[in-house]
Amino acid sequence: MSAMYPIPMLPGPVSVPDEILAAMRHNYPSGDLETDFFKLYAITGRGLARLMGTRNDVVIMTGEGMLVLWAALKSCLKPGDKVLAAVTGIFGDGLGDMAAGIGCEVRKFCLDYNKTLGDLAPLEKMLEDFSPDMIIAVHCETPSGTLNPLEDLGRIARQHGSLFCVDAVSSIGGVDIQADAWGIDVLLGGSQKCLSAPPSMSFLSISPPAWERIERTGYQGYDALIPWRSIDGEYTCPYTPYWHGLAALHAGVQRILREGPERVFARHGEVALQCRDGLQELGIELWPAPDSTPAPTVTAALVPTGITWHEWRARLRARGLVVGGSLGPLAGKVFRLGHMGSQAEQRLMTDALAVLREAL
Ligand code: PLP
Repeated sequence: MSAMYPIPMLPGPVSVPDEILAAMRHNYPSGDLETDFFKLYAITGRGLARLMGTRNDVVIMTGEGMLVLWAALKSCLKPGDKVLAAVTGIFGDGLGDMAAGIGCEVRKFCLDYNKTLGDLAPLEKMLEDFSPDMIIAVHCETPSGTLNPLEDLGRIARQHGSLFCVDAVSSIGGVDIQADAWGIDVLLGGSQKCLSAPPSMSFLSISPPAWERIERTGYQGYDALIPWRSIDGEYTCPYTPYWHGLAALHAGVQRILREGPERVFARHGEVALQCRDGLQELGIELWPAPDSTPAPTVTAALVPTGITWHEWRARLRARGLVVGGSLGPLAGKVFRLGHMGSQAEQRLMTDALAVLREAL
């Protein structure tokens, strides 16, 4: 538990600031019976829309990030639909597999996991004969510590009439995102990363063409999006809402808006640079390739030679620093510092780098 560690640097869930914990400390009544709940839902949605750069509807659901990944895919796609996944890491690959699990025909445009999207000509070639219903991409590949540019892919998706669905779970609130300008139809986010709230809520923006498809697909289920289309106006929820979780998410959004999103994004960039410079000074090799874009919210680096990940983690934990490992093919090889949300603090990073130096 990060609370047990004086220097929390997990790439989510991040440590939750007191003001966000305080927002949860109320005996909220049943949200679906109270207009105050729906007002908070609407205000929070508007704040999130600002952070996502969209005028589209924002739906907020009870459950952490994976929920909206499944909700978006199951609500938009039917068996036999065609999906192109731009894969630069574990989440892009996993999203492709999830679509295949729904019965879609999936093609993957794959780069190495230390790269980010660049020349899209080969991807466009794939699109010409495939004509996918949806293109999927990941903005910040958290396990790789990389950030994909999305604008060109969004333009290509629009040209081919494909929906563009983006997982931005670990970048919304920490990086400038312009969903509408970049042509993103469905943008997915979670509470436990840059919003600094507990891992209890997730949200997504939905464009009018995406709503049309959702209506056509007609998916019914606990994670279905259709019932959320009208909750603002009709004051009805598909299940008892988690008011405490929404209050925490709202407090997380307000925290960013109060400081000013531009200032917050700049702070993330500065701390990320401090982290990369600090690691390199210590002789620790960064994971992202030199020609790729490192994420402003999480830094991935190679576990130092001559020590296993488990020993390295134990050494850091013994000194009060908790960092993340990685997943899939990067497990055991890569470790990560999450400097997102409440953890995008220069002082915290200075402390983390001091521990890393001592542990080496
Ligand atoms: N997408 C990305 C890019 C993530 O980094 C994560 C979690 O780390 C998720 C989705 C899933 O979020 P959660 O673990 O909150 O379900």
